[in-house]
Amino acid sequence: MEPTSGSSGKVLHIYHSQAAFDTYFSFVFRHLSSLGYRPWQRVAYTAFDPLVSLPWERLGLGVRQQVDLRSRDARTFLNELIAINPQLITAFPSILLMIIRVATSAELRRIRPQAIHLHSELLTDGIRDTIRMAFDCDCFDDYSTIEFHHVATECRHHRYHTAADNVILEVVRDGQPVAPGEEGEIVITGLTNQAMPLIRYAIGDVGVAGVSERCGCGSSFPTMELVQGRVDDFIVLPSGRRLSPRIVNPAIELIPGILEHVLIQEARDHVVVQLHVAEGYRDSLPQQVAFALRSLFGEPMRIEVMLDQDLERGRTGKLRSIISKVHRSASHLDQVPALHQSYGEVH
Ligand SMILES: [Zn+2]
Repeated sequence: MEPTSGSSGKVLHIYHSQAAFDTYFSFVFRHLSSLGYRPWQRVAYTAFDPLVSLPWERLGLGVRQQVDLRSRDARTFLNELIAINPQLITAFPSILLMIIRVATSAELRRIRPQAIHLHSELLTDGIRDTIRMAFDCDCFDDYSTIEFHHVATECRHHRYHTAADNVILEVVRDGQPVAPGEEGEIVITGLTNQAMPLIRYAIGDVGVAGVSERCGCGSSFPTMELVQGRVDDFIVLPSGRRLSPRIVNPAIELIPGILEHVLIQEARDHVVVQLHVAEGYRDSLPQQVAFALRSLFGEPMRIEVMLDQDLERGRTGKLRSIISKVHRSASHLDQVPALHQSYGEVH
């Protein structure tokens, strides 16, 4: 049984059968194998909860070594990564960013994975490029949810293929399928878990239906694009205009000196930004961030910037960078409050 890890206070418990878990593991193996992973390679796996040993790990196959997120200290994470010397890293993007920020370039050169598997958080192009450059290897994203586990995975040609033997994924608007290339709400039917069948479940994510051309990776599974995950909220401006985290996050995270940020929309006309900043940037950054956000919003908003916050992470160690306290009342999805949870750590 897994609770979804959202922060709205309501938790939907999802029950998976043991047989379903076994099948999910085979899907993970299929995805990682397609990226070049082999079961005897060293894997560094970031996790908050201690890993449960899997039967094949006792045979020396598919062994995962944990970077323990309970220490909450990037230096400790870095030292653990160096000690593991992984050929594959599977991690939340925000954890790797924390490590990159404390590591010297000599330390980073000691970690040379062949691939990095990212999951559970919204992956922006800026974050992807930072991780790719720091570790000098390619990154591959994974769209997974607590409810279904594998929904879509990114192939080595950087396209997201729906796991069509695990889910039926539909992109709909007003209940009708959208045309290929168009955006809509993602609705999922699970094919694996018989303990708790979910049929045409509105997961709360926005995506684009794929075009049906063959991908160079050889997969015949349909493609899709995730436009907006539930991990971060939209910002709703006083006029009612909604801004996607895909627009809001880069406006902040690409400003030099910012190590981590959490933006909380307290009211339609009030946002609070909590910042963790590098030395030497303390005086200039609050004004710079307020200016960047004022320009982005283009509407009267009270913007408060706070330094030295101990940024709040969810129980699993995952960072949500945009939390809206007004977004939910503005969303049509409020009709199904139990489905509002953000997706969590599922690997
Ligand atoms: Zn492909």
